[in-house]
Amino acid sequence: MPKLTIAIDGPAGSGKSSVARLVAQMLGYLYLDSGAMYRALALKAIRTGISPDDETRLETLARDTHIELRVPSPEQEAAGAKNCVFLDAVDVTAAIRSAEVAQAASHVAAFAKVRKVLVAEQQRAGAGGGVVMEGRDIGTVVFPNAELKIFLDAAPETRAERRWKEHQEKGDRLTLAEVFDEVIERDKRDRERKVSPLVRAADAVLVDNTAMGIEETARLIVMLAQEREKDLVKAGRVG
Ligand code: C5P
Repeated sequence: MPKLTIAIDGPAGSGKSSVARLVAQMLGYLYLDSGAMYRALALKAIRTGISPDDETRLETLARDTHIELRVPSPEQEAAGAKNCVFLDAVDVTAAIRSAEVAQAASHVAAFAKVRKVLVAEQQRAGAGGGVVMEGRDIGTVVFPNAELKIFLDAAPETRAERRWKEHQEKGDRLTLAEVFDEVIERDKRDRERKVSPLVRAADAVLVDNTAMGIEETARLIVMLAQEREKDLVKAGRVG
């Protein structure tokens, strides 16, 4: 069977990471979390005191930074890691998951020059197919020719609650209302920015998983992927 490129985009808390990771596992594909790259760069900007509004310095920072996504070990996976993230060879998998870094990432991600650097890295990492990449612009910009595109969404309250639970599990003392505000503010910025805004690609399948679990959502996407594979074989495009 051919190896597809599967793009999964959607707002914060739509279940992208868990679903994409499971889809990749079920299909034997590589899972790549593009948001982790924006988060890692934002973390470095915070640590080095670069303003999240300084596009020129952020572009230089992006060029001088090595961000690597690795497959987690079974122990790391059991601890909740879906991709292990290395920033200049240092493991920042846990450090990038704070609400502060998420907000900074969405500021950093609004700059065209920064995106250019990270998008090129994402395209390199996913070249060759057999990959499930998730983010905000995967189906529109990073892999516009992906054979399967999913736009994952859920009700804002549901998305906030999912994020809040993740924070609770880590021991973060944020209230549900604080997490709701963070998620809504970040989505607004991601949807309204000029460069590569979060938008459903015209050929993306919309999956609203408000009332669906991770596994159910993943199974649906795997079914769509298998149909797509068959179509491609039939059309003689791959085999
Ligand atoms: O997916 P995650 O919540 O980890 O992404 C953090 C931030 O990175 C998003 O709010 C968004 O601003 C940015 N991002 C992006 N494009 C992507 C992935 C993430 O702009 N492909």
